[in-house]
Amino acid sequence: MTTISVIKADVGSFPGHSRVHPAILEKATEMLRKAEGNLITDSFVTHCGDDLELIMTHTHGEDDPGIHKLAWDVFIECTAIAKDLKLYGAGQDLLSDAFSGNVKGMGPGVAEMVFEERASDPVLVFMADKTEPGAWNYYLYKMFADPFNTPGLVIDPAMHEGFVFEVHDVIDKRKVHFSTPEESHKLLAYIGAPSRYLIKYVYRKDGLIAASTSTQRLNLIAGRYVGKDDPVMVVRGQSGLPSVGELIEPFATPVIVAGWMRGSHHGPFMPVGLCDANCTRFDGPPRVICLGFQICNGKLIGPVDMFDDPAYDRVRSKCNEIADILRAHGPFEPHRLSLEEMEYTTLPIVEKELTDRWEPI
Ligand SMILES: [Mg+2]
Repeated sequence: MTTISVIKADVGSFPGHSRVHPAILEKATEMLRKAEGNLITDSFVTHCGDDLELIMTHTHGEDDPGIHKLAWDVFIECTAIAKDLKLYGAGQDLLSDAFSGNVKGMGPGVAEMVFEERASDPVLVFMADKTEPGAWNYYLYKMFADPFNTPGLVIDPAMHEGFVFEVHDVIDKRKVHFSTPEESHKLLAYIGAPSRYLIKYVYRKDGLIAASTSTQRLNLIAGRYVGKDDPVMVVRGQSGLPSVGELIEPFATPVIVAGWMRGSHHGPFMPVGLCDANCTRFDGPPRVICLGFQICNGKLIGPVDMFDDPAYDRVRSKCNEIADILRAHGPFEPHRLSLEEMEYTTLPIVEKELTDRWEPI
């Protein structure tokens, strides 16, 4: 069995929340290279905006303490570099000082998947900046449950039965499974509220794993504003699953997500190539990259930079138009998040200072 672990954290960036420093990327690459042939089979290091992304293959399954320790050590070493260079927010996603066997709940985001390699196994790794894990909900629904996006649901007999979605409630810490197409409406009743209900896994009806996401929400872990979660996602394609083209097609439509500027604003989710995975305008807009690999005996054959394509120019242009419209709202909703979502920002501190100014009416 092959395991893919994508573990990410913001351990400091420059300038401000824009991008990961090359010295950090070099250090992470070097540390993972050293572990290849030993603890891990293969690795690839990249960044999306200010988030350091570690893509690793190995044979140890999900939640392996050795793999999580390796990622944690990389983040600690890279935090040291960030502190030396006085980068912004050095170590900001590491919410604890001591590693206790698993990075989940400690700040980093984790998406892992264990599977038996098929004759040919294309895997896409999606990585986002300036948004929250629920951002994947819309896209996973389109990929695996919408025949207008994925004609394979109609014309491939292997997909005809549909898929099972595992949905997590991050407030009440519970999970539920919904089968599509028969329970699509029930599924949508929940995942349409992406700040609370997150799709964690998608399976084919025969149990084949198709998608896995990171569901860590930093603010809920820390109980205060500590930056956005900036999620990752691993998705398999072809041979009884949506084709690679069907998996990236939903990103050709502009969608508005939460997490821009101070984690407090809605913005368009812009798909970009790696060279554009740097957040600039108003610290954004929120963006997503996708790296495509073929998995061969645990080796990562690739990557291919999937959104580095003029076919995505039009959605990028639409995202810029939406960004203008939302920015024109300034501090007003719906650019600013709803009050409930603002609970984990610095706004309550402002309100607390003004409490005494209020008089009964
Ligand atoms: Mg980030």
